[in-house]
Amino acid sequence: VPGVAEVRIAMTAEKKVLKILAVASGKGGVGKSTLSANLAVALHRLGLRVGLVDADIYGPSQAKLMGSEDQKPVARDKKLVPVTGVAGIPMLSMAHLVEPGKALAWRGPMVGNALSQLIEAEWGDTQLLVVDMPPGTGDIQLTMVQKHKPAGAVIVSTPQDLALIDATRAVSLFAQAGVPMVGLVENMAGYACPHCGEISDPFGQGGAESTAGDLAMPFLGRIPLAIDIRRRSDAGDPPAAGDGPYADAFAAIAQKVAD
Ligand code: ADP
Repeated sequence: VPGVAEVRIAMTAEKKVLKILAVASGKGGVGKSTLSANLAVALHRLGLRVGLVDADIYGPSQAKLMGSEDQKPVARDKKLVPVTGVAGIPMLSMAHLVEPGKALAWRGPMVGNALSQLIEAEWGDTQLLVVDMPPGTGDIQLTMVQKHKPAGAVIVSTPQDLALIDATRAVSLFAQAGVPMVGLVENMAGYACPHCGEISDPFGQGGAESTAGDLAMPFLGRIPLAIDIRRRSDAGDPPAAGDGPYADAFAAIAQKVAD
């Protein structure tokens, strides 16, 4: 008969701990959803049991990015059962719950409840939940940091200064709540020529890296602005699931996140 201490250790080992990784940005349109989808795929390829939540309640895009638009989640014992996206990754998005194109006019508490239903769904043996956060610092962000306590946050920014200032605001929201910063990703960092692949830097280079340094957080890497990334994202075929330089770039970021 095991002693109380051993039973307790066994129970702790059995208890499934679902870690949350929040992917956030200060403003919209910087590629936060694109990064979330590709990061989830790249982490999955590293062997982690990854799930994906689209917490962008007002502008959900993960169903499209992950090619799961035609699926409808069912409820079991009052819990949502995730649908599956690219590479068999379990996922949930508001897009799965509301009618396409229908605007949501919800107040703060309803939005918070919706987020909690997605996070507290039937995730099975999923180890890490990548959560695509809405831009800014509103009700969803507060529910996220206060109620669901992410294990870490990744901030996405473009090279432009304004976006960087907004990203800094997003950083302070997580910092105030004691959520550790996993690091900063610079997206649309330079333009990749669709013909020769050469990367030019219309907005200059190194802005996000130096901002990361100023904020004492790791710099996770750069993803260029590339037609192929947009085209494949729109087609529900994230570049991270394939081969080539963009898959490598997402894999390198995933490796740093996993470490
Ligand atoms: P956010 O989630 O920050 O609002 P999205 O991920 O929806 O941003 O990206 C906005 C648009 O930019 C989408 O059309 C997306 O396909 C495109 N996009 C994002 N990142 C890149 C990139 N690195 N190269 C080319 N297009 C990109």
